[in-house]
Amino acid sequence: MSRKFALWSIPVALLVFLLKLLAWRMTGSVALLSDALESTVNVIAAGLAYYAVRLADKPADSRHPFGHTKAEYLSAVAEGVMILFAALLVIREAIAALPNPHIEDAPMLGIGVNIVAAIINGLWAYALLRVGRRNRSPALLASARHILTDVLTSAGVVVGVILASATGWLILDPILAILVALNILREGWHVISESVDGLMDASIDAVTRAEVESLIAREMAGALEFHDLKARFSGAILFAEFHLVVGQNMSVGRAHDICDRIEHALETKFPGSSFTIHVEPETERKT
Ligand code: ZN
Ligand code: ZN
Repeated sequence: MSRKFALWSIPVALLVFLLKLLAWRMTGSVALLSDALESTVNVIAAGLAYYAVRLADKPADSRHPFGHTKAEYLSAVAEGVMILFAALLVIREAIAALPNPHIEDAPMLGIGVNIVAAIINGLWAYALLRVGRRNRSPALLASARHILTDVLTSAGVVVGVILASATGWLILDPILAILVALNILREGWHVISESVDGLMDASIDAVTRAEVESLIAREMAGALEFHDLKARFSGAILFAEFHLVVGQNMSVGRAHDICDRIEHALETKFPGSSFTIHVEPETERKT
Protein backbone atom coordinates (compact mmCIF):
# COMPACT_ATOMS: atom_id res chain seq x y z
CA MET A 1 0.00 0.00 0.00
CA SER A 2 2.72 2.50 1.01
CA ARG A 3 4.79 1.28 -1.89
CA LYS A 4 2.07 1.90 -4.46
CA PHE A 5 1.45 5.44 -3.21
CA ALA A 6 5.19 6.18 -3.09
CA LEU A 7 5.49 4.98 -6.69
CA TRP A 8 2.55 7.09 -7.92
CA SER A 9 4.06 10.17 -6.27
CA ILE A 10 6.67 10.23 -9.02
CA PRO A 11 4.30 10.71 -12.03
CA VAL A 12 2.15 13.12 -9.97
CA ALA A 13 5.24 15.24 -9.21
CA LEU A 14 6.19 15.12 -12.92
CA LEU A 15 2.70 16.19 -13.99
CA VAL A 16 2.70 19.12 -11.56
CA PHE A 17 6.16 20.12 -12.74
CA LEU A 18 5.00 20.13 -16.40
CA LEU A 19 1.89 22.21 -15.52
CA LYS A 20 4.06 24.77 -13.75
CA LEU A 21 6.43 24.93 -16.72
CA LEU A 22 3.37 25.53 -18.91
CA ALA A 23 2.26 28.33 -16.57
CA TRP A 24 5.68 29.91 -16.90
CA ARG A 25 5.64 29.63 -20.74
CA MET A 26 2.21 31.30 -20.80
CA THR A 27 3.24 34.28 -18.70
CA GLY A 28 7.01 34.61 -18.80
CA SER A 29 6.75 35.32 -15.05
CA VAL A 30 9.97 34.68 -13.16
CA ALA A 31 8.03 33.91 -9.96
CA LEU A 32 6.23 31.09 -11.77
CA LEU A 33 9.50 29.84 -13.24
CA SER A 34 11.09 29.57 -9.79
CA ASP A 35 7.94 27.81 -8.60
CA ALA A 36 8.37 25.32 -11.47
CA LEU A 37 12.08 24.83 -10.80
CA GLU A 38 11.28 24.18 -7.15
CA SER A 39 9.04 21.31 -8.35
CA THR A 40 12.02 19.49 -9.83
CA VAL A 41 13.07 19.00 -6.21
CA ASN A 42 9.73 17.26 -5.66
CA VAL A 43 10.38 14.80 -8.48
CA ILE A 44 13.74 13.93 -6.91
CA ALA A 45 12.19 13.73 -3.42
CA ALA A 46 9.42 11.43 -4.70
CA GLY A 47 12.04 9.11 -6.22
CA LEU A 48 13.96 9.10 -2.94
CA ALA A 49 10.84 8.36 -0.88
CA TYR A 50 9.93 5.46 -3.20
CA TYR A 51 13.41 4.01 -2.83
CA ALA A 52 13.19 4.36 0.97
CA VAL A 53 9.74 2.75 1.21
CA ARG A 54 10.94 -0.20 -0.90
CA LEU A 55 14.06 -0.57 1.19
CA ALA A 56 12.03 -0.38 4.42
CA ASP A 57 9.86 -3.25 3.15
CA LYS A 58 12.83 -5.58 2.80
CA PRO A 59 12.82 -8.32 5.45
CA ALA A 60 15.58 -8.39 8.05
CA ASP A 61 18.82 -10.03 6.91
CA SER A 62 22.09 -10.94 8.59
CA ARG A 63 23.57 -7.49 8.02
CA HIS A 64 20.42 -5.68 9.27
CA PRO A 65 18.84 -8.06 11.80
CA PHE A 66 16.46 -5.34 13.05
CA GLY A 67 15.08 -4.77 9.55
CA HIS A 68 15.41 -1.78 7.22
CA THR A 69 12.57 0.41 8.44
CA LYS A 70 14.83 3.29 9.46
CA ALA A 71 15.57 3.98 5.78
CA GLU A 72 12.29 5.88 5.77
CA TYR A 73 13.48 8.25 8.51
CA LEU A 74 16.60 9.00 6.49
CA SER A 75 14.56 9.89 3.42
CA ALA A 76 12.24 11.98 5.63
CA VAL A 77 15.22 13.93 7.02
CA ALA A 78 16.44 14.53 3.45
CA GLU A 79 12.96 15.71 2.51
CA GLY A 80 12.90 18.07 5.51
CA VAL A 81 16.23 19.54 4.43
CA MET A 82 14.81 20.11 0.92
CA ILE A 83 11.82 21.90 2.46
CA LEU A 84 14.15 24.20 4.46
CA PHE A 85 16.22 24.86 1.38
CA ALA A 86 13.18 25.76 -0.74
CA ALA A 87 11.98 28.17 1.97
CA LEU A 88 15.39 29.89 2.12
CA LEU A 89 15.36 30.29 -1.69
CA VAL A 90 11.93 31.92 -1.56
CA ILE A 91 13.10 34.28 1.21
CA ARG A 92 16.19 35.24 -0.80
CA GLU A 93 14.08 36.00 -3.91
CA ALA A 94 11.57 37.98 -1.86
CA ILE A 95 14.23 40.06 -0.11
CA ALA A 96 15.85 40.80 -3.47
CA ALA A 97 12.46 42.00 -4.76
CA LEU A 98 11.69 44.17 -1.71
CA PRO A 99 13.36 47.44 -2.86
CA ASN A 100 11.77 47.24 -6.28
CA PRO A 101 8.70 44.93 -6.44
CA HIS A 102 6.97 44.42 -9.78
CA ILE A 103 4.13 42.30 -11.15
CA GLU A 104 3.61 40.90 -14.64
CA ASP A 105 0.67 42.36 -16.57
CA ALA A 106 -2.38 40.22 -15.92
CA PRO A 107 -0.81 36.73 -16.08
CA MET A 108 -4.24 35.28 -15.30
CA LEU A 109 -4.18 32.22 -17.57
CA GLY A 110 -0.81 31.18 -16.21
CA ILE A 111 -2.05 31.70 -12.68
CA GLY A 112 -5.07 29.54 -13.54
CA VAL A 113 -2.80 26.70 -14.70
CA ASN A 114 -0.75 27.13 -11.53
CA ILE A 115 -3.91 26.84 -9.44
CA VAL A 116 -4.79 23.57 -11.21
CA ALA A 117 -1.29 22.27 -10.37
CA ALA A 118 -1.77 23.33 -6.74
CA ILE A 119 -5.13 21.53 -6.54
CA ILE A 120 -3.62 18.28 -7.87
CA ASN A 121 -0.79 18.68 -5.35
CA GLY A 122 -3.24 19.37 -2.53
CA LEU A 123 -5.38 16.29 -3.26
CA TRP A 124 -2.32 14.08 -3.57
CA ALA A 125 -0.84 15.41 -0.33
CA TYR A 126 -4.12 14.64 1.44
CA ALA A 127 -4.08 11.06 0.11
CA LEU A 128 -0.44 10.59 1.16
CA LEU A 129 -1.19 11.98 4.60
CA ARG A 130 -4.00 9.47 5.12
CA VAL A 131 -2.10 6.44 3.85
CA GLY A 132 1.06 7.57 5.66
CA ARG A 133 -0.80 7.86 8.98
CA ARG A 134 -2.56 4.53 8.55
CA ASN A 135 0.65 2.67 7.69
CA ARG A 136 2.92 4.69 9.99
CA SER A 137 5.16 5.52 7.05
CA PRO A 138 7.59 8.36 7.89
CA ALA A 139 8.62 8.72 4.22
CA LEU A 140 5.04 9.16 2.97
CA LEU A 141 4.20 11.58 5.78
CA ALA A 142 7.26 13.70 5.00
CA SER A 143 6.33 13.70 1.29
CA ALA A 144 2.79 14.79 2.17
CA ARG A 145 4.10 17.67 4.30
CA HIS A 146 6.56 18.65 1.58
CA ILE A 147 3.84 18.77 -1.08
CA LEU A 148 1.56 20.73 1.28
CA THR A 149 4.26 23.38 1.72
CA ASP A 150 4.38 23.66 -2.09
CA VAL A 151 0.64 24.22 -2.18
CA LEU A 152 1.16 26.92 0.44
CA THR A 153 3.90 28.55 -1.66
CA SER A 154 1.71 28.51 -4.77
CA ALA A 155 -1.20 29.97 -2.80
CA GLY A 156 1.12 32.66 -1.44
CA VAL A 157 2.33 33.54 -4.95
CA VAL A 158 -1.22 33.71 -6.32
CA VAL A 159 -2.69 35.68 -3.40
CA GLY A 160 0.33 38.03 -3.42
CA VAL A 161 -0.03 38.76 -7.13
CA ILE A 162 -3.79 39.31 -6.87
CA LEU A 163 -3.57 41.50 -3.71
CA ALA A 164 -0.71 43.55 -5.08
CA SER A 165 -2.39 44.24 -8.41
CA ALA A 166 -5.75 44.95 -6.73
CA THR A 167 -4.38 47.44 -4.19
CA GLY A 168 -1.44 48.79 -6.16
CA TRP A 169 0.82 48.05 -3.15
CA LEU A 170 3.36 45.94 -4.99
CA ILE A 171 5.36 45.45 -1.79
CA LEU A 172 2.58 43.10 -0.56
CA ASP A 173 3.85 40.44 -3.00
CA PRO A 174 7.35 39.93 -1.50
CA ILE A 175 6.10 40.48 2.07
CA LEU A 176 3.51 37.73 1.67
CA ALA A 177 6.16 35.49 0.12
CA ILE A 178 8.40 35.98 3.18
CA LEU A 179 5.56 35.19 5.60
CA VAL A 180 4.72 32.01 3.69
CA ALA A 181 8.40 31.02 3.62
CA LEU A 182 8.76 31.50 7.38
CA ASN A 183 5.85 29.14 7.87
CA ILE A 184 7.51 26.64 5.53
CA LEU A 185 10.74 26.87 7.55
CA ARG A 186 8.76 25.87 10.62
CA GLU A 187 7.21 22.95 8.74
CA GLY A 188 10.60 21.77 7.46
CA TRP A 189 11.98 21.88 10.97
CA HIS A 190 9.00 19.86 12.21
CA VAL A 191 9.56 17.14 9.57
CA ILE A 192 13.26 16.90 10.48
CA SER A 193 12.76 16.80 14.25
CA GLU A 194 10.11 14.07 14.00
CA SER A 195 12.38 11.91 11.85
CA VAL A 196 15.30 12.51 14.19
CA ASP A 197 13.07 11.28 17.03
CA GLY A 198 12.62 8.06 15.06
CA LEU A 199 16.35 7.74 14.40
CA MET A 200 17.11 8.43 18.07
CA ASP A 201 14.65 5.74 19.26
CA ALA A 202 12.39 8.20 21.05
CA SER A 203 9.88 6.53 23.39
CA ILE A 204 6.43 5.65 21.99
CA ASP A 205 3.50 8.02 22.55
CA ALA A 206 1.51 7.76 25.79
CA VAL A 207 -1.56 6.22 24.12
CA THR A 208 0.34 3.34 22.49
CA ARG A 209 2.28 2.81 25.72
CA ALA A 210 -0.95 2.51 27.70
CA GLU A 211 -2.20 -0.02 25.11
CA VAL A 212 0.94 -2.13 25.43
CA GLU A 213 0.82 -1.99 29.24
CA SER A 214 -2.81 -3.02 29.48
CA LEU A 215 -2.22 -5.87 27.02
CA ILE A 216 0.70 -7.21 29.08
CA ALA A 217 -1.33 -6.84 32.30
CA ARG A 218 -4.22 -8.75 30.72
CA GLU A 219 -2.12 -11.69 29.45
CA MET A 220 0.35 -12.13 32.33
CA ALA A 221 -1.80 -14.36 34.58
CA GLY A 222 0.55 -16.53 36.66
CA ALA A 223 3.29 -13.88 36.76
CA LEU A 224 3.60 -11.34 39.58
CA GLU A 225 4.40 -8.07 37.84
CA PHE A 226 6.23 -6.47 34.94
CA HIS A 227 8.49 -3.43 34.95
CA ASP A 228 11.12 -1.46 33.00
CA LEU A 229 9.10 -1.40 29.79
CA LYS A 230 11.10 0.23 27.00
CA ALA A 231 9.48 0.63 23.59
CA ARG A 232 10.14 2.43 20.33
CA PHE A 233 8.70 2.55 16.86
CA SER A 234 10.86 2.04 13.81
CA GLY A 235 8.50 3.07 11.03
CA ALA A 236 5.50 0.78 11.42
CA ILE A 237 7.32 -1.78 13.56
CA LEU A 238 7.14 -1.70 17.35
CA PHE A 239 10.16 -2.86 19.32
CA ALA A 240 9.52 -3.42 23.04
CA GLU A 241 11.31 -5.06 25.96
CA PHE A 242 10.44 -5.45 29.63
CA HIS A 243 11.08 -7.52 32.74
CA LEU A 244 8.54 -10.11 33.88
CA VAL A 245 8.65 -11.17 37.53
CA VAL A 246 7.50 -14.73 38.35
CA GLY A 247 7.47 -16.88 41.49
CA GLN A 248 10.88 -18.04 42.70
CA ASN A 249 10.08 -21.70 41.96
CA MET A 250 8.23 -21.46 38.68
CA SER A 251 9.70 -23.78 36.05
CA VAL A 252 11.37 -22.30 32.98
CA GLY A 253 8.76 -24.09 30.87
CA ARG A 254 5.84 -22.39 32.63
CA ALA A 255 7.47 -18.96 32.58
CA HIS A 256 8.08 -19.42 28.86
CA ASP A 257 4.42 -20.30 28.33
CA ILE A 258 3.42 -17.00 29.94
CA CYS A 259 5.90 -15.12 27.76
CA ASP A 260 4.55 -16.80 24.63
CA ARG A 261 0.99 -15.83 25.59
CA ILE A 262 1.95 -12.19 26.10
CA GLU A 263 4.02 -12.14 22.89
CA HIS A 264 1.19 -13.66 20.92
CA ALA A 265 -1.26 -11.02 22.14
CA LEU A 266 1.17 -8.18 21.39
CA GLU A 267 2.02 -9.54 17.94
CA THR A 268 -1.66 -9.80 17.10
CA LYS A 269 -2.19 -6.19 18.11
CA PHE A 270 1.04 -4.88 16.50
CA PRO A 271 1.77 -7.10 13.46
CA GLY A 272 5.42 -7.48 12.50
CA SER A 273 6.54 -6.23 15.88
CA SER A 274 9.38 -7.53 17.99
CA PHE A 275 9.33 -8.24 21.75
CA THR A 276 11.95 -9.30 24.24
CA ILE A 277 10.99 -10.41 27.75
CA HIS A 278 13.50 -10.79 30.57
CA VAL A 279 12.16 -13.20 33.22
CA GLU A 280 13.07 -12.56 36.88
CA PRO A 281 12.32 -14.22 40.27
CA GLU A 282 10.23 -12.42 42.88
CA THR A 283 13.31 -11.05 44.67
CA GLU A 284 13.50 -8.57 41.77
CA ARG A 285 10.05 -7.12 42.46
CA LYS A 286 9.85 -3.35 42.23
CA THR A 287 6.42 -2.86 43.78
ZN1 ZN B 1 13.86 -6.14 36.61
ZN1 ZN C 1 10.94 -18.69 23.40
